[in-house]
Amino acid sequence: MTLLTIEGVWKNFHGHSVLRGIDLEVRPHEVVSLIGASGSGKSTLLRCVNLLETVDDGTITLEGRDVTDPRVDVDEVRQRLGIVFQAFNLFPHMTVLDNITLAPRQVHKVPRERAEEEAHALLSRFGLAHKATSYPDQLSGGQQQRVAIIRALATQPRLMLLDEVTSALDPVLVVEVLEIIRELKQTGMTMILTTHEMGFCRDISDTVCFLDGGVLLEKGPPEKIFSDPDEARTRDFLRSVL
Ligand code: ADP
Ligand code: MG
Repeated sequence: MTLLTIEGVWKNFHGHSVLRGIDLEVRPHEVVSLIGASGSGKSTLLRCVNLLETVDDGTITLEGRDVTDPRVDVDEVRQRLGIVFQAFNLFPHMTVLDNITLAPRQVHKVPRERAEEEAHALLSRFGLAHKATSYPDQLSGGQQQRVAIIRALATQPRLMLLDEVTSALDPVLVVEVLEIIRELKQTGMTMILTTHEMGFCRDISDTVCFLDGGVLLEKGPPEKIFSDPDEARTRDFLRSVL
């Protein structure tokens, strides 16, 4: 049983292929990390899953439905995904509470009272209960990114896509964001993430995928990829970042 199946996905930009026949299966509760040099295609792959990019060939199946079918309801697909990017994309003119309840209320039609109850519960769970009425610029970068993750969680996604969520943070703030991701794993959340934090990647991932020039060159459990990769290019990459 897979939650997400990526089969033979190609993506071209201006005649240049940045994804070259990607195959990947993600099972429920699995944490999959994408690693590889800058420009290897990690973000593009996540953007294809989220339908921010259309694929040029291949299929992506989410919970049994082909989401690369042109007739697909894009909004309906995105409602099953939670996405957090590197840059904090909170709405600056809204409080933390309003940021979190916006999608549940407007997209999922959850009544305000219930949406706020659930938002408060999430804020408490992640140590941010006292920030509900703050505006994003009153929070640290780490707090903003935690709110962005909470906001993504508030719609009860089936799959979380996390793209370099700690890259814009001061090192001291990285830890609190990684902790939240660790806790998500404990609750069984299915995730695909890209990260430069190799220690964290090794620790949290069930499967690590090494992308090289748009090719998913190698994948396996972290013990295997980090200690005894099959491909010389994987070894070279890890040597350059560890
Ligand atoms: P990564 O996330 O691994 O750093 P990306 O997926 O961002 O890599 O980029 C893969 C390649 O695709 C890069 O060469 C990048 O320049 C190119 N690329 C990404 N998005 C676009 C775009 N919208 N238009 C043109 N080229 C793009
Ligand atoms: Mg990227």
